[in-house]
Amino acid sequence: MRKEPIVETEEIFDIELEEDLLNRNRELAEGNHKAMHEHGVRALDVLGSIGSGKTTLITEMVKRLRDRMNVAVLAGDLTTMIDAERIEEQGVPVVQIHTGKECHLDANLVHKALAELDLASVDLVIIENVGNLICPGEFPLGADQRLVMVSVTEGPYTALKHPYIFADAEVAVINKVDLAEAMEVSVDGLAEDLRKVKPGIKVVPTNAREGEGVDEVLRALGL
Ligand code: MG
Ligand code: ZN
Repeated sequence: MRKEPIVETEEIFDIELEEDLLNRNRELAEGNHKAMHEHGVRALDVLGSIGSGKTTLITEMVKRLRDRMNVAVLAGDLTTMIDAERIEEQGVPVVQIHTGKECHLDANLVHKALAELDLASVDLVIIENVGNLICPGEFPLGADQRLVMVSVTEGPYTALKHPYIFADAEVAVINKVDLAEAMEVSVDGLAEDLRKVKPGIKVVPTNAREGEGVDEVLRALGL
């Protein structure tokens, strides 16, 4: 194998166009943030790969929060309603966002989804981002906090391979810890990598399907 990797040098594609897009997104995200704050609404952006357990965690969080605050959920997905329907069973308002072929939510889609909610009667908006550990990180949505979920089933290197997604994250959840041994993945090792990639990040191990660790996630988020 060649000893030096081929490196992206950004000389081919139109960088200005990309910067415009990201700047526009940032402006819209600030607008979302302001609109929510005017109504005293907090927002949480939940990121993680497909199958890492985002919907399961959000469902378990909603179960614990719905009696003490008004929670609404925005569910991002390419085409299906599966996740939104699962969360809606918990009796909270859910807005499904379809991104089509886009692999991330952006602030404009969230802006449209927020218009479907009565923000005056909402305390917390939980946003399930599209299952992807790369570009959602570059598109702030106007949320106050970010949580990134990794699952031991993704193998031992998720944190090291996707360092950028953790840059703005306050909490990292390591899910499916019940499968760690079978996957030969060290939960402590993953936690250590996460803290290396994002010093100060709060790491919470969970088995979200059984509700284990969910109270700790809420505590880490200050909820
Ligand atoms: Mg999901
Ligand atoms: Zn994307």
